[in-house]
Amino acid sequence: MPRCFICKEPVVLATCVADERGRSVHEGCYLRKQDGAEQEKKENAVKKTLRKWLLKHDKF
Ligand SMILES: [Zn+2]
Repeated sequence: MPRCFICKEPVVLATCVADERGRSVHEGCYLRKQDGAEQEKKENAVKKTLRKWLLKHDKF
């Protein structure tokens, strides 16, 4: 039985989805992972903005 690439639990083919690389994962795990990636992107954007602000205002 294939295992979910994210949580390592067995996946049932009827309920699993394929991630962007074609690995079988639970739909719930996949959605959680997508959420995590979105969150990380947002945090990076905030960090970048903050860094720019600090550079502009010479606070380093
Ligand atoms: Zn899973």
